[in-house]
Amino acid sequence: MSAAAKDPAMKQTNTHHFDLAPPTEEEFVRLAADLDEEERRVLLEHGTESPFCGVFLTEKRPGVYTCRLCGLPLFHGGAKFESGTGWPSFTQPFADGHLKYIQDTSYGMTRTEIVCARCGAHQGHVFPDGPPPTGERYCINSVSLAFTPDGEPLPDKLDRGAPEGEVLRRGRAVGEAEPTSTIASQAAGSPQPD
Ligand SMILES: [Zn+2]
Repeated sequence: MSAAAKDPAMKQTNTHHFDLAPPTEEEFVRLAADLDEEERRVLLEHGTESPFCGVFLTEKRPGVYTCRLCGLPLFHGGAKFESGTGWPSFTQPFADGHLKYIQDTSYGMTRTEIVCARCGAHQGHVFPDGPPPTGERYCINSVSLAFTPDGEPLPDKLDRGAPEGEVLRRGRAVGEAEPTSTIASQAAGSPQPD
């Protein structure tokens, strides 16, 4: 169990209490019917899209990346970085428990495959050669993701209700005060370095 999972305040901030129960067989069939051929190959058959082709490669807006199949938030836009690999890359997942890690020994390599923890759809792999703060590189297929810009409602593909289908509040630790920049800068008596 990670430090975040042990701390109730941190856990609440990070997870927003998403319902992680898997879709029923009927729901899964309905969601899968909505995929095109390439999405089906990557999400359901553990395929990999061609590098430098993904629609989210140059996406830089703040927001949330969700599972293309079931709509579960998997990454924050703020965790995205330019890896140069040709696939969207992130330094950390949206929250504990939203990704499942599986040892993958295909193609003569030992890698860690990541799938959506709720529906099992293939997302990509995680490597230990990422930048700070985590040192991890989550290398993800664009077709495995959908993007919700800040201020727009999240998808709710499984009719689970809030926080899905709603605008996600920006995470703030429980009990943490709103920023008081005016007071802080007056107290300091000089302009703050930016
Ligand atoms: Zn999913």
